[in-house]
Amino acid sequence: MSTIQTSAIITKASPYREHDKLLTLLTLNRGKIVALCKKSRHTLNRWNSSFEPPLLCHVQLYEKNQYYTITEIDVEEPYLTLGRSYQNLLAVQSMAHIVDHFTMPEMEQNALFYILQSTLYTLEKKECSAFFATYYFALQFLKESGFTLQFKTCAACNTTFSEKWFSFSLQQNQLLCHQCTLQNHIYPRFERSLLTQLETLYYSSLNEINQNADFLFNYSEIDRIMKELYKGFLSKECLTIHHLSSFL
Ligand SMILES: [Zn+2]
Repeated sequence: MSTIQTSAIITKASPYREHDKLLTLLTLNRGKIVALCKKSRHTLNRWNSSFEPPLLCHVQLYEKNQYYTITEIDVEEPYLTLGRSYQNLLAVQSMAHIVDHFTMPEMEQNALFYILQSTLYTLEKKECSAFFATYYFALQFLKESGFTLQFKTCAACNTTFSEKWFSFSLQQNQLLCHQCTLQNHIYPRFERSLLTQLETLYYSSLNEINQNADFLFNYSEIDRIMKELYKGFLSKECLTIHHLSSFL
């Protein structure tokens, strides 16, 4: 049995047994863990809080056979106002979904912790657009996971992007130019103006984002290409796991 103290962001809270909750936490140093929070479903609990996501806190846990139980929580940032806007709630849910589904448990992900923390901060304090926050986090997550994108030249023929279309090739896991898109019969296709928007989002620094920032991005098109990128990311992940298992 060991005691751990760490900063954590609650990304999911599920009811457990009659009075308890299971909290999914993205922590510093330990990555994602699920911890039991006893009696937290009581109205008058000793925690004096409901611990719903997102919430930045300092936690003390004890671990026994990889089961974690929370013994202390200090709320550092409750992000209270995020719950007042439906759009912001959806943005938070989408970020939590990525952490929940696409990260391995107990794998240190400190960079991801800071990206999530600063995206939540920018969404709440700088009141940036909820769409911006959603896609910024989704794209930075890919980047952080080693899924890098090349914006200057086509991955197949190495020429700079020009003409009308470009696409994302699931075979090469990279962006392809107009000619290569047509030659390889790749769908869906995207207009080149989207490439600049995607690149801006990819290289944005949240420190430079102004109050109430929004960009004139076409978010429905960004959503469309993001689906392709995640398909590529997942197929790459499956490949890695497959390759690993052939070694074992
Ligand atoms: Zn090309």
